[in-house]
Amino acid sequence: MEPTGGAPGRTAADPAADVLEKARVLAEDLALNTVKAWKQKNPGMLAIGHLPVYTPRVMFEAMGCLPVAVFGAGEIDIIKGDSYFQSYICHIPRSTVELGLGGQLDVLDGMVFPSICDVIRNLGGMWKLMFPAKMSAYLDLPQNFAWGLGGRFYMGELKRIAAETEKRGARPLTEEGLRRAIKAENARRRALAELDALRREEPHKARASEAYLVARAGGVMLAEEHEKLIREFLAAARKRTGRPMDNVRVVVAGSFCEQPPLGLIKTLEKAGCDILEDDFQLGLRMIDGDIELKDGMPALESLARAFTERGRDTASRYVPDDTKGQALIRRVKECKADGVVFAAASFCDPALLDQPMLEHALTRAGIPHTSFKFAENTGQFQVIREQAGAFSDSVRLWGGQAA
Ligand code: SF4
Repeated sequence: MEPTGGAPGRTAADPAADVLEKARVLAEDLALNTVKAWKQKNPGMLAIGHLPVYTPRVMFEAMGCLPVAVFGAGEIDIIKGDSYFQSYICHIPRSTVELGLGGQLDVLDGMVFPSICDVIRNLGGMWKLMFPAKMSAYLDLPQNFAWGLGGRFYMGELKRIAAETEKRGARPLTEEGLRRAIKAENARRRALAELDALRREEPHKARASEAYLVARAGGVMLAEEHEKLIREFLAAARKRTGRPMDNVRVVVAGSFCEQPPLGLIKTLEKAGCDILEDDFQLGLRMIDGDIELKDGMPALESLARAFTERGRDTASRYVPDDTKGQALIRRVKECKADGVVFAAASFCDPALLDQPMLEHALTRAGIPHTSFKFAENTGQFQVIREQAGAFSDSVRLWGGQAA
């Protein structure tokens, strides 16, 4: 494994080396070997894939399924996938098709496509035609978050997809099963929140590139096991010695769906940026706080209310006015960041349509920012390294005047 970012305390005796290696193997498991092993151990149980950003994994866990996050194919060569799409869209649908046609997703019993953009909508439709024997569900997420409208609609969507999954052989969705799964999910969320806090407070102990691997590993794990992995990393990272580095503190925004290559995240770190917050793996952090279970309220309603009432203001949600800009400014202030790096997937409409408004809000607030685009298979990082290096130098020298 590559050295972990060059921060002080990373030696051959790094206490977190083993858990990071475990997380890396899980995060990079494109052949879904972990999922195959899980199905062998749990005969008859279903593995259900889902596209980014937010799919309520907890509902599938409650039905005895293993939810599996599909985040494209990273750096593998795209041979067939390109012929299914025009050139001017993002990379993740082509690489998902490539994986599907290459048989790497055969272990999945179904796929869920959340309605975050036209690309995923089209991909969901194509999937039905390409793999007619498999479950292919389109999860229509509401864009009106009033409980009586969007909330009830969303609950109806969850019931519909639960019924479809049950028809394929999953356990029925029961109140007891969902409550149990929500408790495990809440425990995972608290562990993730601790990881995020450690990154903010002592970024030299838990780098963004490491937190990314630890979070992404959860895409092929049940919440309970993932919580253990996060806590194992936390315990090891807290033992690290070393000093804070003289880096600028940044928030990275715009990479919520197609994920940047790990090498790109490390490049930002090497260019002198401590990434205190980001929206990589946003699906795991989509809801602020716990999914609250209340006496007398069905667990499915709690789940639907958590999404509609406490979902994070991100590009895949329609939020009017300057709310998202103000939310970003709040995040910057809360983690005492010096600036924002916008890193969006090329041709990602939701991210790139939001970005000018967010940039405008930051400029008005005097918060420095810079931007670049990437694809999951970007292989050359030199230009980004120079740009990020110039940004961090300018923030160090001129603070709020940099842009
Ligand atoms: S990267 Fe952007 S445009 Fe592409 S599928 Fe994801 S949200 Fe849609």
